[in-house]
Amino acid sequence: EVRLEGLVRAFGPTRALDDVSITVNPGELVALLGPSGSGKTTALRVLAGLERPDQGRVVIDGEDVTRVSAHRRGIGMVFQAYSLFPTMTALENVAFGLRLRRMRRPARTARAHELLELVGLGQLADRRPHQLSGGQAQRVALARALAIEPRVLLLDEPLSALDAAVRVRLREEIRRIQLELGTTTVFVTHDQEEALSIADRVAVLRAGRLEQLDTPTQIYHRPATPFVASFIGRAN
Ligand code: ATP
Repeated sequence: EVRLEGLVRAFGPTRALDDVSITVNPGELVALLGPSGSGKTTALRVLAGLERPDQGRVVIDGEDVTRVSAHRRGIGMVFQAYSLFPTMTALENVAFGLRLRRMRRPARTARAHELLELVGLGQLADRRPHQLSGGQAQRVALARALAIEPRVLLLDEPLSALDAAVRVRLREEIRRIQLELGTTTVFVTHDQEEALSIADRVAVLRAGRLEQLDTPTQIYHRPATPFVASFIGRAN
């Protein structure tokens, strides 16, 4: 379980987060949805430990991690601009994550193969990033994030660089794997359709404030504010 409690983060006069509280239940996928500048990435960075909040707390599985460093929070991350190591093969990229878990080399290789199978890339283990399509590279990034068996998986616009057909296929894949592993997940997107189709619940942000946190059905049929209604209703 992830609890964001009363988070405030200001940059000069801008309140990127203005008293945001969100609870993500174990195994749940919550999408953070909002227009550009609404605070989605800041919320994710605070959750990840890459950014300190001015006020509020981050609690993971009952532990206050607000002052715990990023790499000790047990979080896996995939960003829009996937940062695979260019000189490593897909397998080596995934196995790299396992090194942090002090696994021995043969075990690492076997586990990395399993993870590549999970994301449908078993055949491409020896390719380097430049020999992969954008969607394939994102799958490797996902496998690498899952390698550490994270308590929480954070996905920051992981599909936005991909074309529409690949995006839909990969988001279904992400959802299947997330459900299979039961990984508590926060997914950032500015795409309403994407948020409504992938998430258990959607958190709609606007100018650093949480407008509504609800199931896709409720968000769609019972928008709590005029902003949510217009943002959901607007075509992309
Ligand atoms: P996008 O969809 O464009 O990525 P977002 O919803 O993720 O937007 P944030 O990146 O969280 O929004 O930014 C929220 C607000 O905080 C914006 O007004 C942004 O300009 C500001 N902001 C974020 N990071 C910084 C920073 N390091 N310095 C100054 N202002 C910042």
